[in-house]
Amino acid sequence: MAYAYDDQNIFAKILRGEIPNKTVTETEHTLAFEDIRPQAPVHVLVIPKGPYVTYDHFASEASDAEIVDFNRVVARICQDLGVTADAGQGCRFISNAGEHGVQEVPHYHLHILGGRRMGRMVQ
Ligand code: 5GP
Repeated sequence: MAYAYDDQNIFAKILRGEIPNKTVTETEHTLAFEDIRPQAPVHVLVIPKGPYVTYDHFASEASDAEIVDFNRVVARICQDLGVTADAGQGCRFISNAGEHGVQEVPHYHLHILGGRRMGRMVQ
C-alpha cells in the first residue's frame, strides 16, 4: 500500500461493527448504508471493505472481484430504489477525494443521491 490508511476512521469502525449503521445491502467485498445526514430522499454510501482511501486507490489496487462487486452493488441499489435514469428520474454519484475534494471520511465511498432534482455541479 503506497498510502496511509487510518483504521480509526468512522467507516472502518462501521465495517468492524463498532458503530451501528442502517445497512442497505452487504456482500463479501462491499457494504452500503444510509448516510447519517441525508442530503436527498435517497442518500446511500457504498464502500469497499478493503482499506482504500480514495477512488484512485480503489481503482488501481483493488482486485477485479472487489471492483466488479462494488459496481454491481451500486447498480443493484439504484435499480432497487428506483433511481436509475431508465426509471425516469435518475440520480447523482459523488466521490469526494482528499483536501480539494473536501473528503470528510478517509475511506473510499460513493454517494448515491436521488429522489429529488440536484443543483448544477458547476456554479
Ligand atoms: P465525504 O465528505 O467524506 O464524501 O462524506 C462523508 C459522509 O459520511 C457524509 O455525507 C456524512 O454525513 C457521512 N457520515 C459521517 N459519519 C457517519 C456515520 O457515523 N454514519 C453514517 N451512516 N454516515 C456518516
